[in-house]
Amino acid sequence: MKRQDCVSCGTSNVMYRFEDRDVEIDLKALRASVPLLSGWQCEACSEIELDPESAQRYSDVSDELVYSLRRPLDRYPLT
Ligand SMILES: [Zn+2]
Repeated sequence: MKRQDCVSCGTSNVMYRFEDRDVEIDLKALRASVPLLSGWQCEACSEIELDPESAQRYSDVSDELVYSLRRPLDRYPLT
C-alpha cells in the first residue's frame, strides 16, 4: 500500500490513504461529523491531511460551527 511522509511530525512512510471516512469536528461545545472525506492520516501523530475537495467541505462545516458560536441567540431555536 502506498505511503507518504508525514508533513507534521516528519516520520517517513507513516501516512496511509483513506477514502470515504466520516471525520468528527470537535469545537468547544459543538460537534459535527463531515461524511465521506478522503485524504491521508499519520499513524505516528494522527495528523490528517485531506484532499482539496474534502478539505474544503471540512472547512465549510467548521465555519458554520464557528458562526453558530458567534450567534448565541440563535443557538437554541425554539422548535
Ligand atoms: Zn505524523
